[in-house]
Amino acid sequence: MRFIRPVRPVKKVYIHISASDNPDHDNVATIDAWHKARGWAGVGYHFFIRKSGQIERGRDLEKTPAAQRPFNRGTIAICISGLKIDKVTKAELASLVDLCWQINDAYGGQITFHGHREVANKACPVIDYKKILGISEKGFLAGKRPKGIDIKTPDDVSATDPHQAPEMSVTSLQFGQRGLQVEVLQRQLVRLGYQVGTIDSNFGNRTRAAVLAFQADNHLITDGIVGSATMEAFDDALPRQIGDTRQTASLATLAEGGSRIADASIKNIAAGGTTTVALLTGVTAEFSDTFQNLKSQIEPIAEPFGGTTTFMLIALLAVVGFMTWQSIRAGRARTQDHRTGKTS
Ligand SMILES: [Zn+2]
Repeated sequence: MRFIRPVRPVKKVYIHISASDNPDHDNVATIDAWHKARGWAGVGYHFFIRKSGQIERGRDLEKTPAAQRPFNRGTIAICISGLKIDKVTKAELASLVDLCWQINDAYGGQITFHGHREVANKACPVIDYKKILGISEKGFLAGKRPKGIDIKTPDDVSATDPHQAPEMSVTSLQFGQRGLQVEVLQRQLVRLGYQVGTIDSNFGNRTRAAVLAFQADNHLITDGIVGSATMEAFDDALPRQIGDTRQTASLATLAEGGSRIADASIKNIAAGGTTTVALLTGVTAEFSDTFQNLKSQIEPIAEPFGGTTTFMLIALLAVVGFMTWQSIRAGRARTQDHRTGKTS
């Protein structure tokens, strides 16, 4: 097999393992059937390497893979056949090395190589791919192309499904942490409809709030810490259901819930109303702060025109009316965002 780079921009290669040692599953057709059963457009990997070392083509290289969500864009996905580390063959690893070096050469070394587990809480691809391929700290194929294949690997690797089981060293994520795992978490939250603000790889207050909401929605312990139970829940969780209360939320309920914009909007609308009524009825004793502010600003302008009360009345009504209208608009937008789940 000769690798020819696709036109689509590619920056990274991800390596996976198929999660089965069953000889019937040792082919791309089976993976294709599995992935179709998941509702995908067929096999999510571009290459499947059989135990014999034969490299089979999967998804069209010009297409984005479906393999390591949410990091599929700009990647090539390779899957080796197997589950238990001691059943992975030298032949398939030799083919993996060959394929990866071909890709590396095709990109002039400007491409990085990763295991699925780098971006997911999974053991995939189980093998010590960094050592086998000679991957540098930054993910590049450093040095010379390895000659022999050494598949000696730690014996403590579990033989459970690498795509289902949490990784051996499960690390929990919590407030204050930073890094790629946090970014993965943030993307998962956003994908499921939980807002985290900017995706910044930083587990801050908003991410914590989103985790708490996710935990509450999924009947998990609401501690804001992403441990194995919460991580596993992400795989099966459905996008956030937008509740009835949310859809029928009004400005008033939002203000009660602590939305400052909604609160300010209500106060301004009320102020506008009071001021208008005050002006129209001539009751000037109970002027709101808003009106007093406006009055002091408008008086100097009105002065050259004789400072007539008629001019002031019209000017004030216009300004107050405009402000009230703006407040109503801001309030409406805020309520809409809440109803559609854009904000909390
Ligand atoms: Zn994988």
